[in-house]
Amino acid sequence: MTATANRGQIPATLIPGDGIGPEIAGSVTAVLEALGAPFVWDVQQGGLAGIETAGDPLPSALLDSIRRTRLALKGPLTTPIGGGYRSVNVRLREEFHLYANVRPARTLIPGGRYEDIDLVLIRENLEGLYVAFEHYIPVGDDPKAVAFSSGVNTKAGARRILEFAFDYALRNGRRKVTVVHKANVLKALTGIFLDAAREVAPLYEGRVAMDDRIVDACAMQLVLNPWQFDVIVTTNLFGDILSDEAAGLVGGLGMAPGANIGAGAAIFEAVHGSAPDIAGKGIANPTALLLAAGLMLEHVGRVDLAQHLHAVIGEVLNLDKIRTGDLGGTATTKDFAQAIMRRLAGG
Ligand code: NAD
Repeated sequence: MTATANRGQIPATLIPGDGIGPEIAGSVTAVLEALGAPFVWDVQQGGLAGIETAGDPLPSALLDSIRRTRLALKGPLTTPIGGGYRSVNVRLREEFHLYANVRPARTLIPGGRYEDIDLVLIRENLEGLYVAFEHYIPVGDDPKAVAFSSGVNTKAGARRILEFAFDYALRNGRRKVTVVHKANVLKALTGIFLDAAREVAPLYEGRVAMDDRIVDACAMQLVLNPWQFDVIVTTNLFGDILSDEAAGLVGGLGMAPGANIGAGAAIFEAVHGSAPDIAGKGIANPTALLLAAGLMLEHVGRVDLAQHLHAVIGEVLNLDKIRTGDLGGTATTKDFAQAIMRRLAGG
């Protein structure tokens, strides 16, 4: 934990982001104010907005702000395709050594395809194939005849995320960590992850159980019987894919928050992207970013406010039945936020 838990004000960076980002971020900050959250925002532009204002999707003012606050709530950032830009999200994670990506998937709306889902996917955030050391090899007159990508996993990086996952399980009263890999085929790249897990798990024996799955089997079992999972820990690319699958179990991307945690900083965000297809229409679901703000409140020690926020979101969705279009409703982003604020005001 990097931020101090106290009843005073906590400086934090707010990056509204691109596409639907500003629409949902505006609603989320209004809700947080009504909740009495302790954050004092330093608003910074990134992504396409950063390119427009500072010529860089990650302007130095944004990075300086997070260096100062060590805490950020971030809307989705668009990485321009082409133009030589690396993923802004990957750059942010690297810049602040945010090695753990925590993505809880909990059922908030009963009566969906799956009931009572409550699992947490923990994704290694800095290594693996996702670092994208990539190039093409030309053959004849085709400059892109062969594509080449190297993944890098280290024993130290694997141990760090595995220890994080087991500690997370202990702190949050969870009983089992499932280690997901592809060690039967990628024997070095993901075998090292499984080897590290077999070194780390005995340190938690009797307190947290461990089992392991091959990623393809895990993907199928998440659909057939997701209740068998408690905490899942896996490498970067597998975590990217499985966390979207887990979001699908609880109503889709509009419902899935994420936390990027490092030793010196933490950045909270929705799992979804900038949703260019619905940007500017005012219909995006702000729940994922609201739940991310809830994780941020827990991170700074305000579990009371996080629980209150979670409860009120559930009431608006299930008692008031106010839902955005992705959940089959007709509410706008603002309608949804206003319904939450009415509940917070006791109305
Ligand atoms: P996306 O998550 O933006 O959208 C996928 C689908 O889900 C779309 O149909 C969209 O309308 C819907 N959706 C997403 N969030 C929603 C919400 N809150 N409410 C209702 N519907 C929602 O994925 P994409 O289209 O593949 O990516 C668009 C851009 O976002 C790309 O530039 C990508 O690089 C970026 N991206 C950023 C992040 C991030 O900042 N963490 C994550 C993923 C993608």
